[in-house]
Amino acid sequence: MYGLSATDVELQRRARAFVDDLIPYEGEAEEHGGAIDPDVDAKMRSRAREEGLVATNIPRELGGGGCSMLQQVLVQEQVGRATNALGWMLSTPPQWWVGVASEYQRDRWLVPTVRGDAVECYAITEEHAGSDVSRLRSTARRVHDGYVLDGVKWHVTSFNEATYTFFQAVLTDGPHAGTHAMFVVDVPSDGVRVVRVPEYSHTIAHHHPIVAFEGVVVPLSNLVGDEGSGMDYAHEWFRFERFMVAARCLGAADRLIEEATSFAAARTVSDGPLIGHQLIQAMLADSLTELFAARSLLYEAARGVDEGRDRKVQHAQASMAKLYASEMANRVADRAVQIFGGRGYMRENVAERFYRELRVERIWEGTSEIQRLIVASQLAKRGLRALV
Ligand SMILES: Cc1cc2nc3c(=O)[nH]c(=O)nc-3n(C[C@H](O)[C@H](O)[C@H](O)COP(=O)(O)OP(=O)(O)OC[C@H]3O[C@@H](n4cnc5c(N)ncnc54)[C@H](O)[C@@H]3O)c2cc1C
Repeated sequence: MYGLSATDVELQRRARAFVDDLIPYEGEAEEHGGAIDPDVDAKMRSRAREEGLVATNIPRELGGGGCSMLQQVLVQEQVGRATNALGWMLSTPPQWWVGVASEYQRDRWLVPTVRGDAVECYAITEEHAGSDVSRLRSTARRVHDGYVLDGVKWHVTSFNEATYTFFQAVLTDGPHAGTHAMFVVDVPSDGVRVVRVPEYSHTIAHHHPIVAFEGVVVPLSNLVGDEGSGMDYAHEWFRFERFMVAARCLGAADRLIEEATSFAAARTVSDGPLIGHQLIQAMLADSLTELFAARSLLYEAARGVDEGRDRKVQHAQASMAKLYASEMANRVADRAVQIFGGRGYMRENVAERFYRELRVERIWEGTSEIQRLIVASQLAKRGLRALV
């Protein structure tokens, strides 16, 4: 089905078997702030590496899997089947950086990240600049041999695990004053301080703190690419992540439908199994139909990337895939909770966890509203035939 090659199917099978072995640890993770036994964690991380499931998005010459976008989607789809972000150990390092990283940056941060010896995070969003990144207030001031960075960043995912962060700021002076630049900042560094670590709906081991950067001095070698290109890199990252978010939402929906179907088949109500009731059947049928639609959409959009489709078309299709898959998965989770009844409201139940966890998929990497704006604007510029 879906025209997958034998290599695609084998990769998908390996990723699925890997995630199947993580699923039994979800309960433990839920009870321990997202953490699992460190020995199990280490064993699974090393297996992920041996099985070629990490850094699928990075070229082979840098130590990655060199997978097609469709294959990356297949792996991340399986990642989405586990709750509590357990599958995040199948990490996808910053592939947008590959083409622009200096030799120094490649050796110092990028390749170690691919090897699993370094971990990145992204400090872009601010209190007053989320959907509209052009409103950032963080600054980068040029000094003779580097830059001084200042700003307060929100929701910095994985900061507690990271060894460095990307920091996007507005240049205050020089020929590119007023434009954005991207910097690498080691964690920890002088002047980098966690303001607070808010609690979020999900229970995962990656925190999302508010982080202050106060007079942080970085050398010139920490500037990524060129001054003025910061926004381009952020957009590259968003486009990639939109594919990955969509993929994980498919995996979540797949798991939820399987679990809800087995429950409905086993549960007996007044006059027989729950699954014999048409109101329940309708919920399962709608969920399955929407999963099929989302999967077909995403795989086709991923193939477009592999075929080198026009970048603006890729951009619009990534938005359509993220928009539809994230909203679909939320509907599926809502129905699954309903099918499980009271059990579906218990934290020990997969539907309850996904019901909380999937909500953010409609918010991060661009909210549903922002995806709709992107799609509509591309429709106005390019017309329907170019996009679908
Ligand atoms: C758990 C979590 C982790 C995150 N991780 C990171 C991270 O690692 N790094 C990082 O930099 N950021 C991260 N983010 C930030 C995330 O990308 C933003 O929250 C998101 O882009 C929305 O921005 P905002 O929260 O400021 O909402 P706002 O931009 O304030 O939007 C509020 C509401 O207004 C709507 N809206 C905004 N503009 C428009 C418009 N033009 N038309 C119609 N409606 C509009 C939005 O859709 C939303 O409904 C994370 C967020 C969360 C919740």
